[in-house]
Amino acid sequence: MQQRQPVLFIGHGDPMNALRDNPFTQSLSALGRSLDPLPKAILVVSAHWLTRGTWVADTAQPETIHDFGGFPDELYRVVYAPPGSPETARRVQTLLPEIGSDPEWGLDHGAWSVLLHLFPRAQIPVFQLSIDYHAPLGRHVEIGKNLAQLRQDGVLIVGSGNIVHNLQAFFSQPSHKTFPWAVEVDAWVADRLESGNFDDLLSLEKAGSSARLSVPTPDHYIPLLYTLGASDPGEPLEFTYQEVFSGLSMRCLKLG
Ligand code: ZN
Repeated sequence: MQQRQPVLFIGHGDPMNALRDNPFTQSLSALGRSLDPLPKAILVVSAHWLTRGTWVADTAQPETIHDFGGFPDELYRVVYAPPGSPETARRVQTLLPEIGSDPEWGLDHGAWSVLLHLFPRAQIPVFQLSIDYHAPLGRHVEIGKNLAQLRQDGVLIVGSGNIVHNLQAFFSQPSHKTFPWAVEVDAWVADRLESGNFDDLLSLEKAGSSARLSVPTPDHYIPLLYTLGASDPGEPLEFTYQEVFSGLSMRCLKLG
């Protein structure tokens, strides 16, 4: 049986998506159902675990981390409790010996708010890799390249962030009218993804002045670079969801 898993990038958006039934969450459910065979383990690189240096969580039973404030009580009651995968975490350290292990980190909402739609039964072991927020962008692609061989062994690598993510713009406009700069940069990135010109994606300034508004800080953009790093040149690309509203792109993709 073909074990090799694709790589995903998920635009996760608002944590409340965890509780919503909408076209975005339906696309995640459909994507989860389309994977055959199912992954043996899932490695998530989330915009919500930013560290100095890179860390891999080797937690046996990762906790659901409610890493946000001001949301309705029901969101704090969500528990997504798959097993961890300490043995796959150790493999990551074999591939990248400079990476430290974190025995405590569970699953932040960048992971669980999408996984509960992708794999609602929570039966597949999940673990996270942190983002070294001080590393140059190219370093994230390089780490992704090193992780690529895990795909052969049935590990699904998931980057979880948002290609365009400007929360200030999002909250400044209650109507959530779409900003033209968000549409422009989302399309610019999509074009580079489709043409396989991943180098440009390390030089967002090439997208012009809209890039600074669309990616004011790189935290939600960086997870995409792990997905690209872990892909092979010329692998089939599918946009499994696309939507831009306010200052947010919800574009999701699968490679391989
Ligand atoms: Zn987020």
